[in-house]
Amino acid sequence: MHENALTLLDAAGFQLETRDDRALSIRCHSAPVDVLLVRAADVPEYVQDGAVDCGITGADLVGERSADVIELLRLGFGYCTLEAAVLEDDPALALEDLQGRRVATVFPHLTKTLLGKLGIAVELCEVTGSVEIAPRLGLCDAIVDLVSSGGTLRTNGLRSLGELFESEAVLIASRDSRARVAGLEAALGSVVQARNTRYLMFNAPRRSIPSIREVLPTDGSPSVVPLLRSDSVAIHALVPAASIWELLPQLQSLGASSILLSSVEMLLP
Ligand code: AMP
Repeated sequence: MHENALTLLDAAGFQLETRDDRALSIRCHSAPVDVLLVRAADVPEYVQDGAVDCGITGADLVGERSADVIELLRLGFGYCTLEAAVLEDDPALALEDLQGRRVATVFPHLTKTLLGKLGIAVELCEVTGSVEIAPRLGLCDAIVDLVSSGGTLRTNGLRSLGELFESEAVLIASRDSRARVAGLEAALGSVVQARNTRYLMFNAPRRSIPSIREVLPTDGSPSVVPLLRSDSVAIHALVPAASIWELLPQLQSLGASSILLSSVEMLLP
């Protein structure tokens, strides 16, 4: 979270001073911004109480603290899901099977609220860490915890019953500070959007334009530029990075050539 957040700020033009590992705050050369390094779990309160104007932390921690803050942006890193899990040999097969059972978690508020919305009432055992070990010790029947690769669940002989919440890093502000951080929000947002986008350029026979238009997953209209050879055009378009793998062979089969793909640094709608 820490490294990813600093890299994002840097990409958005906030040039941070060289930092030493013990520093708790970093000044910025290019903007009147100070970056304070605090524990991710404390960020919602810092923002809510007005100690800072905005913060970067996990959506899970914002939900758990139920802080009075506004989520401005999802930042595209720190992905994980909050999942309920039981021991492999437990009879439970779905979240509903947790009704009335004992659940250990470091996320009591989210667990109670999210299971409650599904009509599932459980007995909560609040722990501060190493929750995966609790079922084997007989402290509880199930756990609710963050899962990224699923490796920790498997290592501890646990089986997921399902997802309760999808989390990633978010930019948050308070109602009072929102206007003050509008510039920062726009700059970070433009980098996040750009990371998901590629600039695609290629040449194609003029007659292929209608079929190419159909396969291009662009929101706007692609640019079509005439070439000196009158039967060909150059086509430029912004496309989702995730679509590239299936798009390029389709374009080739429609006669596209000299295909160039480049990254985008910032993208403002
Ligand atoms: P994994 O084994 O990759 O599924 O990771 C699970 C372990 O890492 C659990 O102990 C989680 O509490 C922790 N974890 C995974 N992703 C995150 C995240 N984005 N933020 C905080 N903790 C996480």
